[in-house]
Amino acid sequence: MHRMIDLNSLTIKEAREKLDNKEFSAVDLATYYLKAIKSKNENINAFLEVYGDVLEQAKIADEKISQGEKLPLLGIPVALKDNLLVKGKRATSGSKILEGFVAPYDATVITKLKDAGAVFLGRTNMDEFAMGSSTENSAFGVTKNPLDQERVAGGSSGGSAAAVAGGMALVALGSDTGGSVREPASFCGVVGLKPTYGGVSRHGLMAMGSSLDVIGPFTKTVSDSEILFNVIHGEDVMDSTTFKDGTYPRKPIKEKMVVGVPYHLFKNGGLESEAENNFRESVKKLENLGYEIQEITLPNIEKSLAVYYILMPAEVSSNLARFDGVRYGLHVEGKTLLEDYLKTKGAGFGKETKRRILIGTYVLSSGYHDAYYTKALLLRQKISEEINTIFNEVDVLLTPTTPGTAFKIGEKSGDPLALYVQDVFTVPANIVGIPAISIPSGEIEVGGKKLPLGIQFMAPHNHEHLLFEIGKKFKGE
Ligand code: GLN
Repeated sequence: MHRMIDLNSLTIKEAREKLDNKEFSAVDLATYYLKAIKSKNENINAFLEVYGDVLEQAKIADEKISQGEKLPLLGIPVALKDNLLVKGKRATSGSKILEGFVAPYDATVITKLKDAGAVFLGRTNMDEFAMGSSTENSAFGVTKNPLDQERVAGGSSGGSAAAVAGGMALVALGSDTGGSVREPASFCGVVGLKPTYGGVSRHGLMAMGSSLDVIGPFTKTVSDSEILFNVIHGEDVMDSTTFKDGTYPRKPIKEKMVVGVPYHLFKNGGLESEAENNFRESVKKLENLGYEIQEITLPNIEKSLAVYYILMPAEVSSNLARFDGVRYGLHVEGKTLLEDYLKTKGAGFGKETKRRILIGTYVLSSGYHDAYYTKALLLRQKISEEINTIFNEVDVLLTPTTPGTAFKIGEKSGDPLALYVQDVFTVPANIVGIPAISIPSGEIEVGGKKLPLGIQFMAPHNHEHLLFEIGKKFKGE
């Protein structure tokens, strides 16, 4: 073996250079990660499965490296959230109902990662069908935060965040419907990007809320986030909501960007005081870097959470109807077809999933549709207009990513509303479809342990380049 490399700090950029300079091979690198997983995963539970062919994939990467191929992710070990389809591999979305399901095709992002030379390590733990903020809703146990194992890693992409933060994967993919990349990124001290809706194909991502879902990367640096984003984004014939380059013309980067802060959201958002101090320090840092900070008001943004928790379950109830015990995975036999459905869903779905299917069915039912669903759609429109208009005044928006640091395992699991409140700062970007990034903003001491926090930047549709620019400056990359 070659001299030790620090898996906790290794970036795509460094790894690619070292692979090309033959400081280590892709097989060496994959072996380091497999060892790290072996020693740490039993405690952390980031991975649900480590693929059996990791070293074979790495060997192929090494052959390409020796032939002088230059691909952005050649030999880079990547972890995948359990709701992404990889042909021939199992995928369960953290649910018992998909027991034994094997993906019949590759998700578009998987094809793109393969073409870029990535090595897939395995699939990571998540809240069932991506519903949750703590990975406590997984059918396969909670994922612990590598920085404090008494605490959650966040959710729903908790396994992917913990894999990167715990040095068990160089980078990872997750999905974000209301914050599921950004929140666990913030809790684990890594960078999490939610791209523009339609900027990354959803083909082969198991649907949660189809008008909100988007696949995004977990990385240690903003530069790595940009590298992964450049690989996975783009129009796809398999997803009609993806858009062509040029659909939203990109504004150039200004010398002095204006950062809008909706301070009024913090009071009602339940922002904890230590987290608020951390946020204010981040604002100061941005000012010192030469950015202009402008306080803004978005009168309806506070209703985002209510809008999300109507629209999302409505879409969930429709999307999850397909898991009926006939088409995929688990089948529990009853005396009639209806009993098959009832028994399979009863045994296969967890509590939170059932709760959301019920809420979703309720808000879509006749008599309640106009009172809830239609109203939420109207408010979605209003919030979108407000945010899109404010971008005439400011270049990016800034908020904390979460109201506080990672909480203790079990602390909120009996109280669904307390968990829903975690999403107060992240859901607006999904409702509007704009890109957002969570960037580590330092640590605060809680119970004798240092725990990370994150800040979130949002930009207009298709303006990820602004997020990368300001994110790199903030992080000093
Ligand atoms: N925490 C949010 C929820 O429970 C977000 C989930 C997600 O983004 N997939 O719905």
